[in-house]
Amino acid sequence: MNKKVVIVGGGAGGLATAKALAGTDAQITIIDKNNHHLFQPLLFQVAVAVLSPGDIAAPIRSIVGKQPNIRVVLGEVTRFDVNARQVILKDGSSYDYDYLVVATGIKTCYYGNDHWEKFAPGLKTVVDALEAREKILLAFEKAEIAESQHEIQRLMTFVVVGGGPTGVETAGALRELLNKSIEKEFKRVDTSRARVILIEALDRILCGLGPELSARATADLEKMGVEVWRNTRITCIDEKGVWMEDKCIETSNIIWAAGTMAPPEISSIEAEKPRSGRIVVKSDCSIENHPEVFVIGDVAWFMSEGNPLPQLAPVAVQQAKYVAGIIEREPAAGNRPPFRYKDKGNVAVIGRAKAVMQIGKFKIYGFIAWLAWILVHIMVMVDFRNRFKVLFEWRWHYLGNRHGIRLITGIRPGCRQGEASGGNQPPSNAA
Ligand SMILES: Cc1cc2nc3c(=O)[nH]c(=O)nc-3n(C[C@H](O)[C@H](O)[C@H](O)COP(=O)(O)OP(=O)(O)OC[C@H]3O[C@@H](n4cnc5c(N)ncnc54)[C@H](O)[C@@H]3O)c2cc1C
Repeated sequence: MNKKVVIVGGGAGGLATAKALAGTDAQITIIDKNNHHLFQPLLFQVAVAVLSPGDIAAPIRSIVGKQPNIRVVLGEVTRFDVNARQVILKDGSSYDYDYLVVATGIKTCYYGNDHWEKFAPGLKTVVDALEAREKILLAFEKAEIAESQHEIQRLMTFVVVGGGPTGVETAGALRELLNKSIEKEFKRVDTSRARVILIEALDRILCGLGPELSARATADLEKMGVEVWRNTRITCIDEKGVWMEDKCIETSNIIWAAGTMAPPEISSIEAEKPRSGRIVVKSDCSIENHPEVFVIGDVAWFMSEGNPLPQLAPVAVQQAKYVAGIIEREPAAGNRPPFRYKDKGNVAVIGRAKAVMQIGKFKIYGFIAWLAWILVHIMVMVDFRNRFKVLFEWRWHYLGNRHGIRLITGIRPGCRQGEASGGNQPPSNAA
């Protein structure tokens, strides 16, 4: 009999698993709360009006739906019952499996200060990016007609919290938006007085890369006009702005890129979980006592050489291919070769012709690293059409300094992704 494989999540890991199992004897059900696969590494370019959501997202059905052994289900998993070998969806339906692959990714974490989210949304979903874009563009419009200098300054202050790749890339891109496009089109907005502040609690940004590259990225950002505040701990975020004890940066333009944690449904899986709620997996990516349950990608806590693997797309994709191999060949639990991550490097873009890149001990920066960033991102995009769309938009953006997608559409803050689709699942189990 064909084995039933349920994959939860159609992101980098889930989709790669499904693709690797296409054409095998597995009967695959891929469940996602959104109908689309999202290429998260370019989300910040949607937030700063370089790209449209359709350039970096594609319907999961259009990517794998034509494969005869893959069925796509739009639905939100709310619970895993690993003893009964079932996943349960928000509408009460359930799906049984012989093998389960959990690839839900992670969510933004405010370290116990969830009330900050209202003022400082994260950057994880299409809706997050569109809300950020709306907020940024509206700030310029409001500044153009504001009466007082104080109000103009408040509106023209942008704070990005978190000096990891997302924070660095977003801060650099925001500064380019201000320097290159806005300056020419607004009459009263003086972009030379606008501030972009990147806040990092540690003593350096991009701490996943070597210290030389952190220093280089800091210097490049500062040259572009980004203020990089290191060793800075935020104590509160409210309607007035960002607080560090009794000092406040007055602004309502805040983007949170400072922390992540496992989504709540993951708590229904009994397994060892560190503070972030991610699941500790064994060397074959399965969980303790359940060789049929695999957890991969960002939500997995896979120890390698004393550290958990980083939350990067190549980790998710390599784990996906490894797990698909195990499911296809079905070696006995004790005979599974361990998963080994091949580090193909890490790159962060700072601005036009500026990036930093590390492959093992090899470090590069500047124009060559930027070209590598472009190449890597185009190559790893899952949807073929999106590669062309992104290249086309980048031609305008990088050669013509254009931020062409500056649409204010009146998107409703609070209409979060997943909520729209959460109740629309088909009736009960047919997997
Ligand atoms: C802004 C940003 C920039 C990034 N930049 C880079 C970069 O430059 N390079 C790099 O390598 N990595 C980057 N990453 C990280 C990379 O995107 C992730 O490591 C990768 O996407 C992880 O894949 P995943 O399959 O674990 O999760 P994801 O790709 O996040 O996919 C999770 C999927 O699960 C679905 N899902 C979640 N919960 C449920 C549920 N309960 N029920 C049903 N479906 C559910 C989601 O809708 C989503 O489709 C970035 C991430 C972000 C957010």
